[in-house]
Amino acid sequence: MVGGILGRVLSAVLDLVLPQTCAACRAKGARCCARCVAELTAHPARRLPRPRLPGMPDCWSASPYEGAVRKVILAYKERGAVALAGVLAEALAYTAVMAIGGTGARWAARGFAVVPVPSRRASVSARGHDPIGRLAVLAARRLRAYGLPAEPWAALRQTRRVADQAGLSSAERAANLAGSLRVAEGAKGPPVASVLLVDDIVTTGATLLEASRALRSAGWSVPLAVTVAATRRRS
Ligand SMILES: [Zn+2]
Repeated sequence: MVGGILGRVLSAVLDLVLPQTCAACRAKGARCCARCVAELTAHPARRLPRPRLPGMPDCWSASPYEGAVRKVILAYKERGAVALAGVLAEALAYTAVMAIGGTGARWAARGFAVVPVPSRRASVSARGHDPIGRLAVLAARRLRAYGLPAEPWAALRQTRRVADQAGLSSAERAANLAGSLRVAEGAKGPPVASVLLVDDIVTTGATLLEASRALRSAGWSVPLAVTVAATRRRS
């Protein structure tokens, strides 16, 4: 298996020489066909993880984690199909617009930062790209096109390694992640009070909660988190 920078170069070269197919349904013609793009933006809704962890911000997602949405996320994140960033960022931005419009959020009109949940450094170097950081930049651009004063801000850093989350309950995940993120030292950020947190998938909400805690303890308010997809863990 070819990873990292070499993998990205190889995939860029293959993009030039191979006919494109939809990452979700394999239809020929585009990296994500019109039907699958429509699926990505068809079901924006509030999907709060259950149980709701104390301190969890309001939480919206573009779709349940299934079907075309799941396939597009996997192709983007695990197989480095960076050309899919645009459609995923549009799903995030559209969902944020629905959430902000639906709740009449005044904080959004005053300007806000779009902060990505940071990828683990090891996974960034293995994949050769920072998938959520890229989505935050593009989603902020789309939000500005929708007329919202949004600025991307890669505010968060990991403070330590965390144990594998698989098999842990919501409370165990929250304990595992507690104190694992902080706002980068010396980072001022855009001159705004509020943060829109973005990530690809929400499961228990423990990661979004830890990101919110780190931002709040540095003085920002975190009224809303938006993800592309929401999964519910089976017990
Ligand atoms: Zn398709």
